[in-house]
Amino acid sequence: MTASATTQTPTRDRLGRPLRDLRISITDRCNFRCTYCMPKEVFGKDYQFLERSALLSFEEITRLARAFTQHGVEKIRLTGGEPLIRRNIEQLIGMLAEIPGLDLTLTTNGSSLAKKARGLKAAGLQRITVSLDSLDDKVFMAMNDVDFPVAKVLEGIDAAAAAGLAPIKINMVVKRGVNEHSVVPMARYFKQQGHILRLIEFMDVGHTNGWRMDDVVTAREIVAMISKEMPLEPANPNYTGEVAERWRYKDGQGEIGVIASVTQAFCRDCTRARISTEGKLYTCLFATSGHDLRGLLRNGASDADLDTFIRGVWTKRADRYSEIRSEKTVKLDKIEMSYIGG
Ligand code: SAM
Ligand code: SF4
Ligand code: SF4
Repeated sequence: MTASATTQTPTRDRLGRPLRDLRISITDRCNFRCTYCMPKEVFGKDYQFLERSALLSFEEITRLARAFTQHGVEKIRLTGGEPLIRRNIEQLIGMLAEIPGLDLTLTTNGSSLAKKARGLKAAGLQRITVSLDSLDDKVFMAMNDVDFPVAKVLEGIDAAAAAGLAPIKINMVVKRGVNEHSVVPMARYFKQQGHILRLIEFMDVGHTNGWRMDDVVTAREIVAMISKEMPLEPANPNYTGEVAERWRYKDGQGEIGVIASVTQAFCRDCTRARISTEGKLYTCLFATSGHDLRGLLRNGASDADLDTFIRGVWTKRADRYSEIRSEKTVKLDKIEMSYIGG
C-alpha cells in the first residue's frame, strides 16, 4: 500500500521551497468567457481547443498524482478551463480519492454544480471553491460574457453545502471600474451564508486579457472597503505558504481571504506545481514553458523515471515571477490561465 501523502519528505527547490500543492487542469474548455481569463476576441468560434487524445487520461492523471505525492504533495486541486465539463469527472475524483492522506479539492464556475454536487461528494471530493464575481446580474453577466445568471451559481453553492462539501470558498476577481462595487454586498452575503469569500487581485496571467496595473483593486483597498462596514482584523495563516491572507470579522462571525498576488508577492513560500491539460509540468503560474510529462508517460516511463524527472524539474526551480514583475515581464508570452489551470 502507498504510504500516506503526508509522510513523505518534500522535495525542495533552489530557494528551499517544498513541493506541497499540485493543480491539475483537466480541460482547456469552458462554457464562460470571463473577460479577464478567456476573452471572446481570442477564445472565439475559431479557437482551436485541444483534441481529446491530447488530454491526459484519468489513469495518467492518477499515476502522476501518486508520483507527486512521493515528493511531498499533500493537496491536489482540479481546475481548468471548467473542470465540471470534463466527462465522467466523478470517476476521476473516485480514483484520486483512493490516494491516502490526500486533500482533494476543485475550483469551478459553479454553472453545473446544482446538478453535480452530490455525485462529486459521493465520489470522494472533500471541499470546493466556486468562482463568482458579483451578486448583481448585470455585472456578473458582463464579466462571464455569456449572460450566465447569478442565481444559478448560488443554487450550485447551496447544493454543494447541502451535499456536505465543506468548507466552501468563493473566489471573486476584483477589477477596477467593473465590479469593485460588488465587494461589500458579496462580503455581506457570504458572511451570512457562512462561506469564505476570497478576493483576488486581477492578475496579468496569460497575454490576452489586456491587463493594466490601473485595473487592479489592491488587497489593501479591498480590506478597507469591507472593514468600513464589517470590521476586520488580521488572522494567522492556517499553514506556511497559504495563498490567501486571512482576515476575520471582529464580531467573530466568519472570515475572508485576500489574494494579493500583484501587490504583495508571496513567491517566497510558493509550494505549487501545475500540470496543464496536455500534461506539461509548470513550476510557476506565469511560466512561459513547461516540461513534458505526457510524453514520458506515453513512452513507457517507469515509476523511477517519473520520480527522477519530477525531482530534476523541482530541484532546478527558482521561479519568483510576482516578486520581479515589471513592465518587461508583463509583456512576456505567458501561458493562458485556462490551459495551465488557475
Ligand atoms: N473555471 C473555473 C473557475 O472559474 O472557477 C476554474 C478555472 S479558473 C482559471 C480558476 C480561478 O482563476 C478562478 O477563480 C478565476 O476567477 C481565476 N482567474 C482567472 N483569470 C484571472 C486573472 N486574470 N486574475 C485573477 N484571477 C483569475
Ligand atoms: Fe472559464 Fe474559469 Fe476562465 Fe471564467 S475564470 S473563463 S469560468 S476558466
Ligand atoms: Fe508561485 Fe510563480 Fe505565483 Fe510566485 S509568481 S507565487 S512563484 S506561481
